[in-house]
Amino acid sequence: MKKTFRAATFSAFALTAMAIHTPAFADGIVGETDDSLSLLQTSTQTEAQRVTDGIYKATGFGNSFLVVTDKGNVIIDTSLDLYAPGHKKLLNAVNTDEPKYIIITHGHGDHTGGIPIWRGKNTEVIAQKESVEFLHYQKRLSGFFGRQNAAQFNISDRNVNGENPGNYDATIPATILFDKKYSLDMGNMTFDIRSAPAETYDALTVWISERKAVFVGDLLYTSFPNIYTLRGTKPRWALDYVNALNEVLKLDAEILLGSHGEPIIGAEEIKKVLTLHRDAILYVHDATVAGMNEGKDVHTLIEEIELPEELYIKQPYGTVAWSVRGIYDGYIGWFDGNPTTMLGIKPAQANSDLIEMAGGADMVSKRAQLLAEKGNADQALALTDSILSIDPRHKGALTVRLAILTKMHEESGNYNEKGWLGYGIRDAEKALAGQ
Ligand SMILES: [Zn+2]
Repeated sequence: MKKTFRAATFSAFALTAMAIHTPAFADGIVGETDDSLSLLQTSTQTEAQRVTDGIYKATGFGNSFLVVTDKGNVIIDTSLDLYAPGHKKLLNAVNTDEPKYIIITHGHGDHTGGIPIWRGKNTEVIAQKESVEFLHYQKRLSGFFGRQNAAQFNISDRNVNGENPGNYDATIPATILFDKKYSLDMGNMTFDIRSAPAETYDALTVWISERKAVFVGDLLYTSFPNIYTLRGTKPRWALDYVNALNEVLKLDAEILLGSHGEPIIGAEEIKKVLTLHRDAILYVHDATVAGMNEGKDVHTLIEEIELPEELYIKQPYGTVAWSVRGIYDGYIGWFDGNPTTMLGIKPAQANSDLIEMAGGADMVSKRAQLLAEKGNADQALALTDSILSIDPRHKGALTVRLAILTKMHEESGNYNEKGWLGYGIRDAEKALAGQ
């Protein structure tokens, strides 16, 4: 059985199986979480964190930064609308001047949420030019993404009314859009802003040479990156991450400020972390591409590809398995070469005869229960899928499914996985309640 970040869940129903998977615990995959990666991150901050002379941080999902210069204030990222008022209060305690500029590292809601409360009459908002399409794209699919976010984060579904706003309906906050580079002379500090596509096409980095400080947005955080995100996204190109990390490495920064988590201080440490992330991402990318060229299918590669020990990075947010799939599907799309897939056969069509031949849904659900008890939770779950594809309210299948997902949820050390397991649990509960 492959050792995965989720390997511990195999022990859900069979404690004896735990011995086999002890290495997964030893790897520190399970149980090592970092609140900076949780949407529900709470901050006990009573005053803004002074990172260095003129640079202050308010902490949350994500962070907001205030840079106080001779020529006025600059805000870098503004957090979620939920956190922004608290951040503004903390940073205003340092300096109340209306910001001259707001720089948005990319167009995700946890970076743009506070723009309305920070922006003054004369504030310019700076973003990379791809942010226009990126914001339209998110708005275009707001019915879809609203539902996905509500599912993953278990939040009230603000946009789950099937809204279909059209192709170009987003509000674009940026007043200054640039392509490759933009420079701000703020007297005692220069802001060297560069396009650095990775998590999104509009991602940017900000370098202040006078403080040897670089702001990297979501290019780096304390997990293997989300090269694919489960709530759905346009492809995130692994080689973009590699290039962007290489560009940051060239700076020889002494302070690295991500929009999630704590600052990394010291040129040596920064170099070490950037190099590790770059090499790990490149390793996963190259192994996936090599496998594709050898003719291996995506499932084989998900099972085969693991980070070597020297490139090990915890996976409480992104995972290697999802990244392999993201890279594979990103490059070639959905078709796997199987004519059945090409014809779009529905799971119910494929499963109904098999379930009947196996003695019916009740028999198959008993088998799923048995598999779960033996510790083979994944296979048991797949059986419940087959049953539910033809009978979505099957009580036996739903009961087994609920037990498996609940146990997995308890044991998961990955925020995104936990989110979707939680959604699966609520879904099964709803279906059961509807009996
Ligand atoms: Zn973010």
